[in-house]
Amino acid sequence: MKAGPTCIVCNVERALIGVTPVRNRHEMLEYECPKCQNIFRLVARREPREFAERISGAPVSASACP
Ligand SMILES: [Zn+2]
Repeated sequence: MKAGPTCIVCNVERALIGVTPVRNRHEMLEYECPKCQNIFRLVARREPREFAERISGAPVSASACP
């Protein structure tokens, strides 16, 4: 379960207003404060989706993490 980050100025939960795919299976989440309209951007790992994996076509090697 995902909860939006809280605006530290207004102390209210931000609303997710946009998701933009970025490189390396990450996505940029945009959260807006409903009170001051300040936008907070967060890059997070995308949720694994079987379908997306299948259509990408490229073989996925075990992520090399030294
Ligand atoms: Zn705010």
